[in-house]
Amino acid sequence: MNADVAPPTVAIEVVALTKRYGEGKPAVDNINLRIASGSYCCLLGPSGCGKSTTLRMIAGHEAVSSGDVLLENRNITNLPASQRGTAMMFQSFALFPHLSALDNVAFSLKMKGMAKAQRHAKAHQLLERVAMGPLAQRKPAELSGGQQQRVALARALINEPRALLLDEPLSALDPFLRVQMRAELRRWQKELGLTFIHVTHSQEEAMALADTMVVMNHGLIEQVGSPHEIYNRPVNEFVARFMGGHNVIDTPAGKVGVRTDQMLVLPANDALPEGYAAKAAVVSDVEYQGTYLLLGLRNPGATHNASSSADASVMLSESQFAARPFVVGEAVQLAWAPQAAHALKPTALA
Ligand code: ADP
Ligand code: MG
Repeated sequence: MNADVAPPTVAIEVVALTKRYGEGKPAVDNINLRIASGSYCCLLGPSGCGKSTTLRMIAGHEAVSSGDVLLENRNITNLPASQRGTAMMFQSFALFPHLSALDNVAFSLKMKGMAKAQRHAKAHQLLERVAMGPLAQRKPAELSGGQQQRVALARALINEPRALLLDEPLSALDPFLRVQMRAELRRWQKELGLTFIHVTHSQEEAMALADTMVVMNHGLIEQVGSPHEIYNRPVNEFVARFMGGHNVIDTPAGKVGVRTDQMLVLPANDALPEGYAAKAAVVSDVEYQGTYLLLGLRNPGATHNASSSADASVMLSESQFAARPFVVGEAVQLAWAPQAAHALKPTALA
């Protein structure tokens, strides 16, 4: 080995990966993706878009129909799950309730026939790494959610994986615990310096966790980028709508996206600020949200969004709204500065 060779910067590479379950459109359709070493990657998209299938093909729990999976430049496509150098962490941690934290972590070593003293020493080391050493003898029921998650993490690390794969690990938790647990996951990922690939259908969860988000739809990748890039520059109408917080507006030059917090609402006959574009609209809802208000607007030339009764929405601070409160039914102008709008490409597949 040459000590000067830098460690691989790409942990996982997926090349022309496809999964067909039957006739018709593949569940995962010829996707390409490179995931940087030591990064937190979230696969995000609506239910049924192919996230779990992609993760399972990386893990070796699902055979590929075609394409390749590489881990640190090694082709692992046809290796069994246990020989890939990946590990899975399951929903709600899936700990054995009758075993101590230590025995949970040591379990797979026991299955491999490792002697008790040896496997306990190794499991202890891993529990120490996630600050669970002092609680090694507790059963899962005697541990908090955060502590159980750390035991599950230690158990997943027992075979020294190069990447940890997580399929909706937080979705069975109540909302309060979910937010707490995701902050812990993120902290441990950074602390361990390990590559995480985390599947979620929650935009909020992906944005809170990810260095890189991969937005999927109908077995295809729509966009890859940092949460900031994707939130501020969704490439197409699907991503803009799925991420939320954006209006999709039809203009003579095509569809544009504008963030709901970067739009202006003016009374129908007021003069527009210099350079602004506007559409006529009618206020359809006024929702109080605490630190801000959300105005729903009808018919501002936005493409109709079936999931909402309003065609567009605008976020106003409490003080903005107090200075000029709008009422339902009022005719207004929905306005935006040209620099707040960006062009949306047609969605790959409607
Ligand atoms: P996601 O995790 O994004 O919700 P999945 O990867 O589970 O989506 O599923 C993608 C598509 O493949 C869906 O249409 C789903 O019904 C289909 N699918 C998943 N697993 C199987 C299977 N074992 N047999 C047949 N179809 C499947
Ligand atoms: Mg899934």
